[in-house]
Amino acid sequence: MRHANLAIFVPHLGCPNQCSFCDQHHISGAEQPPTSEQVRQLCETVAGQLRGRYPDAEIAFFGGSFTAIDRVYMCELLEAASPFVGEVFSGIRISTRPDAIDREVLGLLARYSVRSIELGAQSMSDAVLRANSRGHTALDVERASVLIQDAGFSLGLQMMTGLYRSDEQSDLETAKRLAALRPDTMRVYPTVVLEGTRLAALYRAGMYHPQSLEQAVGLGAQLLEFFDGQGIRVIRMGLHAQEELAAGQIAGPHHPAFRELCEGRLMEERLLSLLSGKPQGSYTACVSPKSISKVCGHGGQGIAKLRALGYHIKVEQDRLMSGLAVRLKGV
Ligand code: SF4
Repeated sequence: MRHANLAIFVPHLGCPNQCSFCDQHHISGAEQPPTSEQVRQLCETVAGQLRGRYPDAEIAFFGGSFTAIDRVYMCELLEAASPFVGEVFSGIRISTRPDAIDREVLGLLARYSVRSIELGAQSMSDAVLRANSRGHTALDVERASVLIQDAGFSLGLQMMTGLYRSDEQSDLETAKRLAALRPDTMRVYPTVVLEGTRLAALYRAGMYHPQSLEQAVGLGAQLLEFFDGQGIRVIRMGLHAQEELAAGQIAGPHHPAFRELCEGRLMEERLLSLLSGKPQGSYTACVSPKSISKVCGHGGQGIAKLRALGYHIKVEQDRLMSGLAVRLKGV
């Protein structure tokens, strides 16, 4: 099913924290919070453009801690958007902090056609959460997830890799604990260092070493494999490429095609495992039509790496295959 989000960014408003990595202005690209009238106009315009094209479109309030903003303003934004749910938009999606969820606010969200709630969990290690001034604990993530699911909302969880004081092991442990909460969707963001943040100061002082792109892609591929195996859809990997982000980024593994890099790595690893113990030579790999570019890797790197190991791979489409599955023909 084709899915689209009308993304409306509500910057840093109401957030009681200053997480080590966060500069909402650079991440969302929006400096001024939208007015309810702007939200109404935007919904009207985009509804006209999407009508009949996307059967599964949502209005999404992203960028800040939606349920922590001024309650009157939050309700105004929802009141402006909710009349557009029905014909074109299937519901409203919001993102917020785990400690800004309780039964009272969930009741309000339900009244305004909110269907999906995404929690910025970021890590399930209390030490990492503390080191990055998140201001909530892993237990808050678990409590909020249960409340959200019990109230009948779709649950999305977001995690970050390569945070200050985290390592690959703690990131994989975070993924396991988040998967145990059975979210409907996941988003995975490698940490990038933005100008003006505490992380930038730590980086400049030599106290924080961001992941290299190579490390972030390797871990991203493992996480994709893991969540796929758990039947959990990963709907985003890496921050959106935006001029504002590029301007504010001073270090870290940001790449505009981060997900493709991870998928390419995962397919390369799957191929390598299929080839394990087999003699060098020529083989044909069958993949779904959508995955041709992925198995070839970004810029053909995956196939070139296998060639360097003595495996000459021809890639064929197989319409019976789906996702990132790969098989060797006639082997
Ligand atoms: S809770 Fe969210 S909005 Fe607030 S500082 Fe942290 S990342 Fe930024």
